[in-house]
Amino acid sequence: MRLRHKPWALDYMKEQSSIYIADPATLIGNWSNEFKNDNPIYIEVGSGKGAFITGMANQYPEINFIAIEVFESVAVTIVQKLVDQPQSNVRVLTVDAKDLRDFFEKGEVARVYLNFSDPWPKSRHAKRRLTYKTFLSTYEDILPDKGQIHFKTDNRKLFESSLMTMSAYGMTFDWMSLDLHVNEPENNIRTEYEERFSALGQPIYRMEATYDN
Ligand code: SAM
Repeated sequence: MRLRHKPWALDYMKEQSSIYIADPATLIGNWSNEFKNDNPIYIEVGSGKGAFITGMANQYPEINFIAIEVFESVAVTIVQKLVDQPQSNVRVLTVDAKDLRDFFEKGEVARVYLNFSDPWPKSRHAKRRLTYKTFLSTYEDILPDKGQIHFKTDNRKLFESSLMTMSAYGMTFDWMSLDLHVNEPENNIRTEYEERFSALGQPIYRMEATYDN
């Protein structure tokens, strides 16, 4: 993703305190209070500009959604969308996925979505992939037992390496498509990258993986 420096982004987001959580560590164990209900919490790691999370929040009002996007200059677009069209079941965090244990207790997150994660194709960068074993361990520590990751990508190599790391981690696969947009499920919410790659005629890969614990 091309990053444009937006020096105003953090100040702008901090003004939207009902959307942007500037200090998420203070809410560990207390996210239900933040949402003022006990609905399940689904997070998307690497939300980009937020088409998926806002679409999901609209489709599933009985679920709470949290966007995790490391770059303020990218996350600010999600916040702007939510200022224009408020959705009480969405919050936005600008934190790194590697630190998720600092913000959520075991079982506090009911599902993790990974969409079009950066592929990091060189093997010396494998540890940076959001499906590397250290990240799988982090997600495991905030999900309930038998928790799930739902993953989509256009990148076949990333899909294959994710199948391998997840399988080696002991996860099982409940659902898989090697071309999601052939018979696209009615409830599929497309991400920005998904629209872009689909328009280029590239197949979209998708899987649902479950922890065996
Ligand atoms: N999910 C969006 C989509 O499908 O259109 C964006 C995909 S983009 C290729 C990947 C996003 O993940 C970028 O916005 C990037 O900043 C974010 N990201 C990468 N590593 C991350 C990390 N460790 N923690 C949080 N976000 C991360």
